[in-house]
Amino acid sequence: MSTTTETTTLTAIPHVIGGRHVPADGRVGPVFNPATGQQTGEVALASADLVHEAARTAQAAQRAWRDTGLVKRQQIIFRLRDLIASRGDELARIITAEHGKTVSDAHGEVTRGLENVEFCTSLMHHLKGEYSEQVAGGVDVHQVRQPVGVVACITPFNFPAMVPLWMVTTAVAAGNAVILKPSERDPSAAVWLADIFAEAGVPDGILNVVHGDKEAVDAILDDPIIRAVSFVGSTPIAKYIYARAAENGKRVQALGGAKNHMIVMPDADLDAAADAAVSAGYGSAGERCMAVSVVVAVGEVADDLIAKVSERIGGLKVGDGTDPASEMGPLITRDALDRVDGFVAGAEGEGARLVVDGRELQVDGDGFFIGPSLVDKVTPGMRVYDEEIFGPVLSVVRVDTYDEAVALINGNRYANGTAVFTRDGKTARQFEYDIEVGMVGINVPIPVPVGAFSFGGWKDSLFGDTHMYGAEAFNFYTRRKVVTTRWPDPSESQISLGFPTH
Ligand code: NAD
Repeated sequence: MSTTTETTTLTAIPHVIGGRHVPADGRVGPVFNPATGQQTGEVALASADLVHEAARTAQAAQRAWRDTGLVKRQQIIFRLRDLIASRGDELARIITAEHGKTVSDAHGEVTRGLENVEFCTSLMHHLKGEYSEQVAGGVDVHQVRQPVGVVACITPFNFPAMVPLWMVTTAVAAGNAVILKPSERDPSAAVWLADIFAEAGVPDGILNVVHGDKEAVDAILDDPIIRAVSFVGSTPIAKYIYARAAENGKRVQALGGAKNHMIVMPDADLDAAADAAVSAGYGSAGERCMAVSVVVAVGEVADDLIAKVSERIGGLKVGDGTDPASEMGPLITRDALDRVDGFVAGAEGEGARLVVDGRELQVDGDGFFIGPSLVDKVTPGMRVYDEEIFGPVLSVVRVDTYDEAVALINGNRYANGTAVFTRDGKTARQFEYDIEVGMVGINVPIPVPVGAFSFGGWKDSLFGDTHMYGAEAFNFYTRRKVVTTRWPDPSESQISLGFPTH
């Protein structure tokens, strides 16, 4: 579907409910190609009524899906895996067109999402129950896992395919029906995924995509049919989702923002550390929840490290993500660009030193581009340190000792990911022990755990206690039921009002 304006043809991006593409029934929102700055689409923004209709559709479909045998469900997830693996390029290009990241980076996102699909191909194993024979004379106990029912997944703009694949695949594999509410800024990947799930054999109504903004999210949080909510996004919204969903009696996991620090110890290989800082700081234009945004230079390393990072920044190619030569694309919106610009503009006024000013970058056209920035002599209390920038800005904090570096990180409200660069095993082990952060890298700058482990931060980076994907996700999307059984001889039956003991 498309509409033509004076200058461009806009693609209409529909909801997917009950296996049908459902056009906008009212409000729509603009979708842009960030590399050109041009509006390319209009996304339907659901009313509360439409969300409730989708929840009823999901509930009706879920009963039969729960009854579908595990072997059959497993075969469907295998087909899903093959479809995404063979058509990943289609998905990557959709991501780049609306998010702006380079196509190769979008491929990386698809691959990491696929990792969870592969984990879910063993759903038979992950849904296995437990059994204890003879806990007392003639008494056995077993535990089964049953789906929660209808669950909602609310996702951010920065991983429009990977985060939905983290949540939705596990929820569906576990026998639930899903309402996916993707970011309204790059919504087309979710529609593509819903169509691919259907092609793999997931029945209509099991994966529904409902686009929207606060109105749709609030309707999700208040709908009594929806029993669990998975959320990934910024901290203020994560906190809000956690509180309101919990108040309504829902199971909820809400992952928030980040400020990820990378410590560089005096014994580290500085070339490797500089490569890592540049890759993790500026990849995807810094719009990753696991991006490194603060380099903590310990002892004398700062000047050499800054020189090496600056030199590497000079060689980065920023441009349209569809150009194979581009290493970094634009930001998601003009607002995001203005926001990041503001942080860079304000840094020197706060007492920091602007080593590389990304505002000097010139890219032809109206795309939302800003170059990589490097800011030295940053300290807590400066906006550039205290806030999540979510853009290509790397701050350097100078400290004298390992203990100061650890205290800095442990004093931060965010605790998503962190890394230490050192050649000393004892320091690395101590760091792992001391640091109050959910995901830790030892000479690994973006320690996103492999699919068999689970993903999640601590403190203001996660509200709730369950991480994403892996075994914890199967816990989140199932309810455990424990059954105690005995088959007594009727002749031994008697009345006893005492509390049963074994
Ligand atoms: P966001 O919080 O603005 O939006 C996330 C989702 O919430 C979207 O679906 C959006 O439509 C919805 N939303 C936005 N405002 C809302 C409101 N007022 N009420 C109800 N719903 C609302 O986040 P974003 O800008 O899309 O994504 C970037 C943020 O996500 C960053 O803070 C980043 O660190 C974080 N993030 C965290 C992780 C993690 O694993 N911890 C992963 C990816 C992104």
